[in-house]
Amino acid sequence: MRRMIIAGNWKLFGTIAETENLCKGLLNGKSRSERAEVLVCPPYTALAAASSLLADSHIAVGGQDMSEYEGGAYTGEISAEMLLTVGATFVILGHSERRQYHAETDQLVNAKAVRALASGLTPIICVGETLEERESGRTEDVVGAQIAGTLKDLSAEDLKKTVVAYEPVWAIGTGKTATPEMAEAVHRFIRERLVALDNEAAEMLPILYGGSVKPNNAAGLLSQPNIDGALVGGASLKADDFIAIINAA
Ligand code: PEP
Repeated sequence: MRRMIIAGNWKLFGTIAETENLCKGLLNGKSRSERAEVLVCPPYTALAAASSLLADSHIAVGGQDMSEYEGGAYTGEISAEMLLTVGATFVILGHSERRQYHAETDQLVNAKAVRALASGLTPIICVGETLEERESGRTEDVVGAQIAGTLKDLSAEDLKKTVVAYEPVWAIGTGKTATPEMAEAVHRFIRERLVALDNEAAEMLPILYGGSVKPNNAAGLLSQPNIDGALVGGASLKADDFIAIINAA
């Protein structure tokens, strides 16, 4: 059986105090799932606080991005090693907001993925089409190119340690969700592309869905055969909503 992961992306939200409150809310609620691993990705400044509160719990911690470099004169950046030292075990890479506002390309995301894997972090590599790309019938072209570009030259062993998140850009933060059938069709397509890279890795690699996942739509999405979890933005900022999504898994 493939791993199932429910991940919260807290984006640019959360002082240390707010992060601690949210972590305590998760620990005090029924946030443990028999089936799914649970992960939260706070802002960098709150990572250490989250890690220390969640240490020895069932909830892992991840970064929202990282540099492709080990170190150097790169103002504002953070390295894989730095994430590891504050207890992160995952890192989100190539989120559409990074692609849109920071001009991140597949090539850059690939370099970051290589660095994350070499350092021992699990990369969650995001792909997804815009509304215009979907409406012009280019979803598979776009997602296929993102999969090829971001996973380029990863060994089968590295692919087995990687997570992909399909996040249609038009569904992120908009309240519009892909129907379970629409999402499953793209997840199946991604799985087929992974098979072409390595059969065994394609079977193992979790593909998460992201885009306005909420307590009322999570079960339908998560019941699809190729949807192995969720990357949750807005709803992960409320402990009760995130717990309901975990329980839907
Ligand atoms: C995200 O940030 O990855 C995301 C899917 O956000 P939301 O759940 O708010 O659409």
